[in-house]
Amino acid sequence: MKVKFILPSLAEAKSPLWRPIKYSLFPPLGMATLAAYLDPGDEAILQDQHVEKIDLNDSPDLVVIQVYITNAGRAYELARHYRDQGAYIALGGLHVTSLPEEAALHGDSIFLGPGEVTFPQFLKDFRQGRPKKRYFSDQRSLAGIPPVRRDLIKRNRYLVPNSLVVTRGCPHHCDFCYKDAFFEGGKGFYVQQVDEALAEIDRLPGKHLYFLDDHLLGNARFATSLFEGMKGMNRVFQAASTVDAILRGDLIEKAAKAGLRSVFIGFETFSPQNLRDSNKKQNLKRDYQAAVNRLHDLGIMINGSFVFGLDDDDQDVFKRTVDWGVENALTTSTYHILTPYPGTALFKQMESQNRITTRNWSLYDTRHVVFKTAKLSASQLEEGYWWAYREFYKWSNILKASLKHEHVRHQLKHLAYTGGWKKFEGLWKLLINSGSLKYMLPVLEAILSKVPDIKQKQPDTASLQTV
Ligand code: SF4
Repeated sequence: MKVKFILPSLAEAKSPLWRPIKYSLFPPLGMATLAAYLDPGDEAILQDQHVEKIDLNDSPDLVVIQVYITNAGRAYELARHYRDQGAYIALGGLHVTSLPEEAALHGDSIFLGPGEVTFPQFLKDFRQGRPKKRYFSDQRSLAGIPPVRRDLIKRNRYLVPNSLVVTRGCPHHCDFCYKDAFFEGGKGFYVQQVDEALAEIDRLPGKHLYFLDDHLLGNARFATSLFEGMKGMNRVFQAASTVDAILRGDLIEKAAKAGLRSVFIGFETFSPQNLRDSNKKQNLKRDYQAAVNRLHDLGIMINGSFVFGLDDDDQDVFKRTVDWGVENALTTSTYHILTPYPGTALFKQMESQNRITTRNWSLYDTRHVVFKTAKLSASQLEEGYWWAYREFYKWSNILKASLKHEHVRHQLKHLAYTGGWKKFEGLWKLLINSGSLKYMLPVLEAILSKVPDIKQKQPDTASLQTV
């Protein structure tokens, strides 16, 4: 059987918002995970539209497409093309789970929720000639999952080929997050067996790893055993966690010892009212600045994530957020305009209040306002969002933030990481087009290497952030 797995691009490649490096970071891990359930005699191909042109002249028997909200249009077009050729179309992913009725119009079988149990069941049914129209994941387990089909991944086309996921979901329930919608009807947070996760790490070449888990520190027992097992593996890694997990116990020290050098954290907002309204309880009454200082003391760089447009946000939110990030030496900041994704508690709430202003899913990209705002107007919100990016990433602020670190090597690491990520678009384009991205991985590893005896200078400003 010939099976084609496709990840359609999340943005239009011709769009002015297309940043080649942003879309050349991680390979399509979810698809490579599903491909592991094929039989040895099956022929599999995996295409990622972010890094290659989809070959439409082939004739697979089965086409599996991963659908996100902003690629839904492209996913349905590809589905139509292959359906017309006589292929069987399987659609899965966040958007399919949120809007199954819409997806069912474009696919022969659709998958709701994670696919580790349902996809092998579908393959069995398909081979027997009686696939179901809809597969709903109600059993959730990662026990004994086969090794990811990394042989299908074109490693050279990604800056971070060694990405992996060892947990699924998250223990929290933020109203704006897809997590609860995707995992509805079963466990919302579960982990791989530690020895299997360590075996997956062992199979990955080189030094650098990027854990794409929503919250790597979410299960303390699992994370402790994982970090214990990683000691001596000589890895450097990046991951995501939460403010409360950074502040609780000594898990973050264990992570640092295992090689954690950079962490993504959802600070989201400084307003307690916004946190309460979004059910982001885990951030309430947490001292953001203490979390930042603890990470810097351990030599861990920070990517802070912030949401603009929550109901308590006013005109000052943009400057306040950018200034705090610079003063606290965040390495990178990721800003989002609040987006009520279909299926989420936020969408249901806004829909019931008649606040959804468009259902053009391509605008649900966290750069556009798609709902009736509260204290800010839609144009203030969009302008403020773009201003924040420009301001945080201007050279003077990058320099100012990096000089907050006491150790010169940490200052240089900060400069190289932030500048490299945002200021050399032309160079990235050249590297990508010439197939030379792989030469940047040792540079990234060097930037993420440990700085001995880090002592962080305290920021000048008073703490804003016990929220
Ligand atoms: S902590 Fe992050 S991943 Fe977890 S529910 Fe909240 S936004 Fe989603």
